[in-house]
Amino acid sequence: MPTHTDIIFPYIKRRRRQAAIILSDAEKGQDQKRWLYPYWTWTPSLKRSWTYAPLWKKRRASGALPLPTRLQFVFMASYFLLNLTYVILVDWSGSEHHIYPQLRKRSGTIAAANMVPLIVLAARNNPLIRILNISFDTCNFVHRWIGRIMILESLVHMMAWIYPKVTHEGWTVVASKITHSKFITTGVVGFISLLLIVLLSLRPLRSAAYETFKRIHILLALAFTGAIMAHCIVSLRPSQLAYVVTATALFGAERLTRLFWLYRRNLSRGSSTWATVEILPGQAQACRVTMHLPVHVNITPGMHAYLRLKAVQPWGSHPFSIAWWEHSGFFDNTKVSFIIAANGGFTKDLYDHAKSQPGLSFHTGAALEGPYGGHHSLDSYGTAVLFAGGTGIAHQIAYIRHFLEGHAAKKVATQRLVLIWVVRKTESIEWIRPWLAKINHMRTQHPDILQLRLFVTGGEQIMRHVGDGIGVKAVAGRPDIEPILEAEALEQVGAMCVSVCGPGGLADDVRAAVRDVQLKSGGQEIDFAEETFGW
Ligand SMILES: Cc1cc2nc3c(=O)[nH]c(=O)nc-3n(C[C@H](O)[C@H](O)[C@H](O)COP(=O)(O)OP(=O)(O)OC[C@H]3O[C@@H](n4cnc5c(N)ncnc54)[C@H](O)[C@@H]3O)c2cc1C
Repeated sequence: MPTHTDIIFPYIKRRRRQAAIILSDAEKGQDQKRWLYPYWTWTPSLKRSWTYAPLWKKRRASGALPLPTRLQFVFMASYFLLNLTYVILVDWSGSEHHIYPQLRKRSGTIAAANMVPLIVLAARNNPLIRILNISFDTCNFVHRWIGRIMILESLVHMMAWIYPKVTHEGWTVVASKITHSKFITTGVVGFISLLLIVLLSLRPLRSAAYETFKRIHILLALAFTGAIMAHCIVSLRPSQLAYVVTATALFGAERLTRLFWLYRRNLSRGSSTWATVEILPGQAQACRVTMHLPVHVNITPGMHAYLRLKAVQPWGSHPFSIAWWEHSGFFDNTKVSFIIAANGGFTKDLYDHAKSQPGLSFHTGAALEGPYGGHHSLDSYGTAVLFAGGTGIAHQIAYIRHFLEGHAAKKVATQRLVLIWVVRKTESIEWIRPWLAKINHMRTQHPDILQLRLFVTGGEQIMRHVGDGIGVKAVAGRPDIEPILEAEALEQVGAMCVSVCGPGGLADDVRAAVRDVQLKSGGQEIDFAEETFGW
């Protein structure tokens, strides 16, 4: 049975659930029943109303401005209130000569202290992702809001200097200080840099030209850090300086770590990584990229990596989900495959370049950074329902292969696995046909464990032979998500995980259905995981 410890430490709970099911093979059915319901009967309501609920109604990932979940909102609001409390805890009974300096000191100190979580949460090698089992997407969300809180604190910090100065000495003195006092000049430069960072990282600007945003963001962050460091040095503020130095050191260390792994992954014994890029059949404008790494790389499902290709925009690096991987050769080299849809910039250039080549494919020098992520293990769930939209299949197919291998080796708890893949045209199946054939072969001993269902929304007539040899059942139209989940909840073995990777609209529909089924199922243990393709 789940215990109090399991509730407090979700990681322990998952490992116990997985171990209990795997170890007692004879009692498998009995063991799974223990995990069908959560320890506390109110957890499904909590998940429905807070953990998985978008801030407002149903929309979270779709639309121009994604919304946080209610739990994320509560976390961020509490963080803001804690910051606010620290800033306003001044002795308001004193004269303004005492109040303003206190306000300046408190707002400046807390803004400097916030630099540490700000940097940690933006890092690709952020240890909190693994320790707390939260996604990079969530870390990015908190990173952005800490930045916004910092700008408010910096504003208070600056106004608590400007207001009394203007009142008693006038604007001329303020202007002269800004241009002639190193202390004030560095503070103003820091504030303007931070303001620009926050304004330029608003979603519409960020999405319009992500690569340009990223470069300007880093340059402004360096300007901000340099200015604030000088501000603290000039004014002899060792405790505030310690925060700035810590944040800078963490930033530098993370960059060095990335460089180190970039080198280790891509260069070995005189060989370097290269890539094959092939156009995939159909009108969907997608490519399969296979990276050939000269070293062994451990990969788990749910991981993504950043790709650089010499032949296409070699200066940029973009994240993609790892769909398939194999180890081979004397030196145990690693072959890693990705499915990439043409978007606006790099991905469109990649597609166009491949299309212009004879045979619609080319080889090029390449580099892989990562892999990152993969922290979300689904191994302890008796039932897993995976939804994919379009190229989102790259994320989910890695889990399917892992489940089947794990099931055969008795390493995962999964007894029931359903994949729902939504595509516009049946031809998309060609993207992953070779892998589906391997998956089909893997499940020959346990044919009932896996259902592969393809929903084709482009209005075409489905040919009978579409799923031949790969065990896929294709139907026309959109999936009716809630009835599908209700049916799965009726057949649920152990705890169930519903995962989605695809366009925002699909993710929101699946999220809404999971929330409804939490209660309709009579309070069974149903978890939800969402992977987004952008931040
Ligand atoms: C974890 C993760 C996994 C992904 N897996 C896949 C996949 O398997 N297949 C696939 O086709 N796409 C995947 N994507 C999306 C892919 O990264 C973007 O489509 C691609 O970077 C777009 O670049 P672009 O220059 O062609 O398009 P642009 O038009 O320049 O950008 C389109 C959008 O992509 C996002 N984006 C662009 N560059 C980056 C970057 N360097 N880092 C983060 N986001 C960026 C931004 O939100 C931007 O608004 C994934 C994204 C993430 C974050």
